[in-house]
Amino acid sequence: MENQLQDPEQSVLIMRSKFKRVCVFCGSSPGKKPSYHLAATQLGNELVERNIDLVYGGGSVGLMGLVSQVVYDGGRHVIGVIPKTLMPREITGETVGEVRAVSGMHQRKAEMARQADAFIALPGGYGTLEELLEVITWAQLGIHDKPVGLLNVDGYYNSLLSFIDKAVEEGFVTPAARHIIVSAQTAHELMCKLEEYAPKHCGVASKLSWEMEQQFGYSTKSDIAR
Ligand code: AMP
Repeated sequence: MENQLQDPEQSVLIMRSKFKRVCVFCGSSPGKKPSYHLAATQLGNELVERNIDLVYGGGSVGLMGLVSQVVYDGGRHVIGVIPKTLMPREITGETVGEVRAVSGMHQRKAEMARQADAFIALPGGYGTLEELLEVITWAQLGIHDKPVGLLNVDGYYNSLLSFIDKAVEEGFVTPAARHIIVSAQTAHELMCKLEEYAPKHCGVASKLSWEMEQQFGYSTKSDIAR
């Protein structure tokens, strides 16, 4: 639950979150509307206000660069997880905070997932969708119980949400699995919803922890599930 604490030295209210670190997936492009820029900035500020650190895909390009810069400038710890092949600066730009080099895209996703207590997707393209759908799939399988939020800026994700509702109607996604996706139009509303999220179980995880281990080299399910 969201909470507030009094700092005795500065006599100001400090926001306390149940999340220590959040993973943000977002476009490596800025998008065409100023509202995307604004949403990335607001999400960064929301994390700072709640004393939450950031893990993301590294680099300074697009919305990724914006959100990481805001969190870093706000004094929170930022981890950028970059595959070695993306490390040349002309691809990712300069990364703020701590850089963790990994051997490939799969290792990057697994490392971001392991470091985070919750996931948020801002608007983005294929990379964002792939990362988002993978953590939703892992939640569906019970590999983790971490909340997954969709920041639906200006209705950017309306058609994706409609598609998923269609998949529920047609019997391809269970209502319990639909419940995994928490969406909101503003960063503040989304963070409040994520703080209150409680998973409905539909997982088959014990079987799959083995596959994760094989694929990502982690020793136990708890590495990602924490
Ligand atoms: P996209 O939504 O296609 O722009 O891809 C964004 C996601 O894919 C990010 O969250 C990154 O993890 C990854 N990605 C794609 N392009 C880059 C890039 N140039 N630099 C760093 N990460 C990238």
